Amino acid sequence: MTSSSLVRPVAELAAAVAGPVLGPSDPGWEQEVGGFNLAHVPTPAVVVGATGEHDVAAAVRWAAAQGMRVAVQATGHGLTGDLDDVVLVSTRRMTELAVDPVARRARVGAGVRWRAVLDAAAPHGLAPLCGSSSGVGVVGYTTGGGLGPLGRRHGFAADHVTRFGIVTADGVARTVDAGSDPDLFWAVRGGRESFGVVTWMEFGLVEQPRFHGGGIFFDGDEAPRLLHAWREWAPGLGEDTSTSVALLALPPDPALPAELRGRFVVHLRFTHLGTVAEGEALLAPMRAVAAPLLDGVGELPWAAVDAVHSDPTDPMPVWDRGAVLDTLPADAVDAVLAEAGPDSSSPLVLVELRLLGGALARPAPVPNAVAGRHGAVSLYCLGVPAGPEAAVQVPARAAALLDAVAPWTRGGLVNLAGQAAPDTVAGYWDDDTRLRLAALKRRVDPEGVFGGPVRA
Ligand SMILES: Cc1cc2nc3c(=O)[nH]c(=O)nc-3n(C[C@H](O)[C@H](O)[C@H](O)COP(=O)(O)OP(=O)(O)OC[C@H]3O[C@@H](n4cnc5c(N)ncnc54)[C@H](O)[C@@H]3O)c2cc1C
Repeated sequence: MTSSSLVRPVAELAAAVAGPVLGPSDPGWEQEVGGFNLAHVPTPAVVVGATGEHDVAAAVRWAAAQGMRVAVQATGHGLTGDLDDVVLVSTRRMTELAVDPVARRARVGAGVRWRAVLDAAAPHGLAPLCGSSSGVGVVGYTTGGGLGPLGRRHGFAADHVTRFGIVTADGVARTVDAGSDPDLFWAVRGGRESFGVVTWMEFGLVEQPRFHGGGIFFDGDEAPRLLHAWREWAPGLGEDTSTSVALLALPPDPALPAELRGRFVVHLRFTHLGTVAEGEALLAPMRAVAAPLLDGVGELPWAAVDAVHSDPTDPMPVWDRGAVLDTLPADAVDAVLAEAGPDSSSPLVLVELRLLGGALARPAPVPNAVAGRHGAVSLYCLGVPAGPEAAVQVPARAAALLDAVAPWTRGGLVNLAGQAAPDTVAGYWDDDTRLRLAALKRRVDPEGVFGGPVRA
């Protein structure tokens, strides 16, 4: 779309919003459109640095009048799909945050990251249902389901949402809860950006001042023994215990401990919500499988939960895919090892198996549209598509890995779908849920102003 073909000029949009409105040649453009994933930088026609609900509504109305699509970015940890020529709403200035320790609730603006909630909740001994990295945005994570180390005890983050504000395709700002609009309340908690821009969100916190956990690194050559041991050990754990195991090809980064630098390793991630003694006893069988290179498990405040996964924090190029497995038999582990194990020459830098089950498998107290609830294990893989060869090899080997586990796969998690094709993600929901979501999409967003995993 060229500026001469715009129905309403950009100046009209700029006059209607308090935040910056930038085009590709404006100073500050790169900072405004950039985010975590350097391999998927949006290329919008215009970016709106929204300062609040009013700016979001003005941007959506303006886009709808042009017949343009709207996309949202908070942190860039999970952008997918075609972001060419859209009106991009950047929510990173919307950082309001309040914790009510008596009601055990938090209310956040659309630009808040988990780090801010962890820090605000910690003095009250409370914890949010964040995921592996506190740099991820609260709203994008929660509307996509939200699988974190408290999940097996308390369910998905989306299950704890009590209310949110949303600007729908008609440019109207609404407050939605289970009573005011049960359909939209159900659909946005799982359907992510498909129905509008969520401007703020209120959700429950749980009492969890400390935990026993962290990560243990082993030599990558031990991968076959460790993955098979994990497959037998993990399903027997109670709901107070969460775990994943990852194959990691670590870079020769001087910031990494010398034992790990430039090595292919197995990373066992462990979180226990009970006592240290219980946690140590539960871990003993895995510690007995092989000698660790580095053992970082101990008692930690909940606000230090990033130590469990040690995810990267600096922006990097990412190409990722995921799947949910109904079961993890020995053949499935062998398939993972053949595609991504120490002898595979795989270019993937992370392949993770994460235990699901427990409260994740139960319906939310107020039902929602989170996909993947049925699964036993989540598989997630990630590569760095830097350079022409990697840009071809990484997607090809990720696809080969997913093909190898296809016999045990049923759907996936929206948040961990990565660069899956839109039809693949739409297939994560069972038929009834997909039809209900599609009907609501046709009602709420008939012109397809918003993208997202839900197809009309
Ligand atoms: C290092 C890393 C660790 C992760 N760990 C986990 C994990 O443990 N568990 C898990 O479940 N997921 C995890 N994820 C995936 C992550 O939760 C999703 O990608 C999530 O959508 C990111 O949200 P964001 O706002 O930070 O990112 P963005 O890239 O800014 O947004 C991602 C998506 O959310 C939508 N979105 C963002 N804000 C809004 C809004 N206000 N209204 C409507 N839609 C919105 C966007 O449209 C976009 O489609 C991880 C991702 C990374 C890169």
